[in-house]
Amino acid sequence: MKMKNEIKYTANSKMALMALYTLNIMLMVVHGLFLAFFIFTCVQTMLTVNIFSVLIYAFSFQLLKKRYLSVYTVVIFFEISVHMFLAVLCLGVDYGFQLYFFVCVSVIFYTDYFAVKLGHRHVHGVGLSAASALLYFVTIIYARYHEPLYVLNDGTAFGMMALNSLLVITFSAVFLGALARTASKTEAKLELQATHDMLTGMANRNYLIGQLNVFYETEHLKGYWLAIMDIDSFKAINDVYGHNCGDYVLKTVAELIQKNSPGMTSCRWGGEEFLLVGREGTTESGEKSSHEVLERIRRAVEEYDFEYEGKKIKLTITIGMASHMEEQTIDEWINIADTKLYTGKNSGKNRLIV
Ligand code: GH3
Ligand code: MG
Ligand code: MG
Repeated sequence: MKMKNEIKYTANSKMALMALYTLNIMLMVVHGLFLAFFIFTCVQTMLTVNIFSVLIYAFSFQLLKKRYLSVYTVVIFFEISVHMFLAVLCLGVDYGFQLYFFVCVSVIFYTDYFAVKLGHRHVHGVGLSAASALLYFVTIIYARYHEPLYVLNDGTAFGMMALNSLLVITFSAVFLGALARTASKTEAKLELQATHDMLTGMANRNYLIGQLNVFYETEHLKGYWLAIMDIDSFKAINDVYGHNCGDYVLKTVAELIQKNSPGMTSCRWGGEEFLLVGREGTTESGEKSSHEVLERIRRAVEEYDFEYEGKKIKLTITIGMASHMEEQTIDEWINIADTKLYTGKNSGKNRLIV
């Protein structure tokens, strides 16, 4: 179980790092495009600024490699802000460079989010976004009262405005989309962890109790039965063959239970105990009573040849079953099945008590 968590953490970290590297590559490519544009239009100041920008993003790969993520966020914030301010100072607002302040906000939250995923606590989002908003207004107010340093033709201005708008929309969609996708994936993973047992993949106790409450609300549990199944002398398996063998046995018994109870609700109740809920009437696999289903499961385990590291192991389970009685609470119902399980344990194990 411990190992599984570690693997997940590594996969998460890799994904977060990939997201940051992708961001860095995108920013570097965009500045490469700007560089070409400013060479072509002979805007010397911005040509120089963009050489620095490309160098900053090239250097930023080192920051990412060394996991200096707080520094990285601040560096890209300054780069985007200074670049945008100077672009507006040189060309005015008609080229749309001021729009990148909006990208700045999504980029900051994006880096923050993935930095936190990589275990960094420091969050810059709100402060740097506020600074971005302030700089945006300073820039457009400055442009209102100052003539641009360079004047190009109207067609170039319109073309650049269109390109910048497209890039800003694309950047925002890519970053927000990546955040939404990652958050949904994480949510789904957490939900699975909260409702399922990681070793066997079966539902867990919480999930099953939730399901019993649903059956209670919809059908008052009329005609329902439940069975608690406990592996006999399981402690000896751990003691003789080791804990890993015990885990293998738990997984295999879980599979046998699920395979032999199609359409029914089962869970790992805890330790080496499983709980199965069914309903009177013909089952998906044709049995007419709970007795037939549970006997089939008991026999399936008894007849199964468990094999671990070349050693053959035989196992049995004991089952306590109780049908739901009117007015009975879920706790009382489970306790009756539990009492029957212990009757089975005390009368020789490997049996079904109904
Ligand atoms: P009985 O026939 O009376 O049920 O005896 P038992 O040995 O099966 O029951 P007992 O309650 O004495 O021992 C249960 C053991 O199950 C003890 C515990 O270490 C082991 N166990 C619980 N959870 C796990 C698990 O996830 N993996 C492994 N390998 N062992 C587990
Ligand atoms: Mg037990
Ligand atoms: Mg047991």
